[in-house]
Amino acid sequence: MRQFEVETGRRVQMLDITVEVQAAVKDSGVVSGVCHVFVPHTTAAVTINENADPSVVSDMDSFLSKLIPQDAGFRHVEGNSDGHIKSSLVGASETVFVENGHLVLGTWQGIYFCEFDGPRQRKVYVKVV
Ligand code: ZN
Repeated sequence: MRQFEVETGRRVQMLDITVEVQAAVKDSGVVSGVCHVFVPHTTAAVTINENADPSVVSDMDSFLSKLIPQDAGFRHVEGNSDGHIKSSLVGASETVFVENGHLVLGTWQGIYFCEFDGPRQRKVYVKVV
C-alpha cells in the first residue's frame, strides 16, 4: 500500500489528487489491474468528477453545504456533524482500472480529495493490485 499527505486550506475544499494517485500507480509497477483509493478520515471523502471547469467542484461544495448546513441542530459536540454526514454520502473510497500503467479515467474525470472539516493534514491510501 502507498500513501500520501494532503494539506487542505479551507473548511470545505475539493482537491484534485489525480497526479498523486497516478504517481502511486507508477510506483506500484502494476501495468494492468485495479487501483483502490481510500481516505481514512470520518470528515473527508474521495470522489471522481469533472476536472475541466472548476465551477463543477465549487458547485458541489456549495450545494452539499446548503443540503447539510454546519449548524442544523446536530447533537455531536465536536460541531462537525455536517462533515461526518457529507463524508458518508460522498464515500471513503474509489476504484479505478489501470491499463498500460495508467489510470483509466474519462476525458473530463479527475480524482478529488474532499475536505469537509478542514483545514487539516490528511492522508490518502492507494492500493494497486
Ligand atoms: Zn466529529
